[in-house]
Amino acid sequence: MRASWQERFAEASDVLKSSQRQQTVVRVLDLEIGGSDFITMAGPCSVETEQQILSIAAHVRKQGARVLRGGAFKPRSSPYAFQGLGLAGLKLLAKARSETGLAIVTEVMSEDDVPLVAEYADILQIGSRSMENYTLIEAAARSGKPILLKRGMMATVEDLMRSAQLAIGAGNPNVILCERGIRTFDNALRNTYDPAAIALLKQISHLPVIADPSHACGHRELVPALARIGVAAGADGMIVEVHPQPEKAWSDGEQSLSFDEFDGMMAMLEPYIALRGAANRTLVGRVG
Ligand code: PEP
Ligand code: MN
Repeated sequence: MRASWQERFAEASDVLKSSQRQQTVVRVLDLEIGGSDFITMAGPCSVETEQQILSIAAHVRKQGARVLRGGAFKPRSSPYAFQGLGLAGLKLLAKARSETGLAIVTEVMSEDDVPLVAEYADILQIGSRSMENYTLIEAAARSGKPILLKRGMMATVEDLMRSAQLAIGAGNPNVILCERGIRTFDNALRNTYDPAAIALLKQISHLPVIADPSHACGHRELVPALARIGVAAGADGMIVEVHPQPEKAWSDGEQSLSFDEFDGMMAMLEPYIALRGAANRTLVGRVG
C-alpha cells in the first residue's frame, strides 16, 4: 500500500492493510465473510410477522443467501412510522435461524439494548444514523459479536474508517464495512451510491466490505444494477431487502425486491460473481 494512504488515514491505522494483516475473514456460524465467497444477506427491512419472516428466510436461502436480515429495532425518520417489533422480532429471527440455518443480522440502536440483541443476533448492525454514536459502537464491539457498520449518510470514507477503528480499539476486529449511499446535491434517488468507496476500501483496508444497493437507491427496479456494480467494485457481499409483497411492507417497500425479482437478480449476478474472484486476486499481495 502506498505510504500516502497510511498518512492520509493515520487515525484509522488498524483498519488499513499491513504486512501482518491483508484480509480479515469474519466467521459467523459456518460462514466466512471476507473470504473467497460472495456473501448475500437478504430479508425484509423490518420483521413483521412470523409467517412473513419464515417465508422470506426459506425463500432467500433457497436462492443462495447465507444471512437473514430484518430489523426488530427500527430507526425511522418519522416518529409516527412503525418502530419495529423489538424483542418479539428478535425471537422470530431466532426461529428463522433454527429453521433455515441462516445467520442473523439485525440492528441495535441503543447501548442499553446491546446485551439483548447480542443474545439473538449473529451480527450486530450499526445503522447509518448510528455510525457516529461512539458509545453504542464501543458497547456493540465489546459484546464480541461481529459488527456490520453502515456508512453514515453524511459520513466520509474516513469517518467510516474512524468508527471502525473505534470498534477494533474496543477489542473487536470483526467489523464489516457497508456502503449504503450518502446524501449529495443530487436528489433523483433516495441516496447517492458511492461504489468508489467500495473500491477504495477494498484496496486499502483488510476489513470485509459489502454493498447495500437497496438503501443506496430506494427503488427496487435499480437494485439489481447497483448490486452488480457492487460486485464489480470488489465487494465481499451485499445486503438487500426482499419482501413477499413489497407494496404491503411495513417499511421500505419501494426498495424491497419481490421474490421473483430477487431470484432474477441472483441469476443475473452469477457470472459477475464468478469474475469477481479473478479481479480481486489483483488486490492480493499488496503490503503496507
Ligand atoms: C436498514 O438496514 O433497514 C436501515 C435502516 O439501513 P440504514 O441504516 O442504512 O438506513
Ligand atoms: Mn430498510
